[in-house]
Amino acid sequence: MTDATEVIRFDCVGDTHEPHIVKCNNCNKEFRAEKMDQHVTCSSCRQKDTLSSKDFEVVGVVRKVKKELTPH
Ligand SMILES: [Zn+2]
Repeated sequence: MTDATEVIRFDCVGDTHEPHIVKCNNCNKEFRAEKMDQHVTCSSCRQKDTLSSKDFEVVGVVRKVKKELTPH
């Protein structure tokens, strides 16, 4: 049984295929974008653009981390 948990890293940007936490510069709302290589839509103000545009700012990356089993 695989047991993975998601953590948000704010100290690195990660890879393009990883989900990211993005801040909308139009309304300052932070939301989650699944990929960086496509258009994203702000969940609050519906601003739509690519992540590389000045409308959005990447603030963190979502990493899947396997829980380590504690040895008995
Ligand atoms: Zn917005």
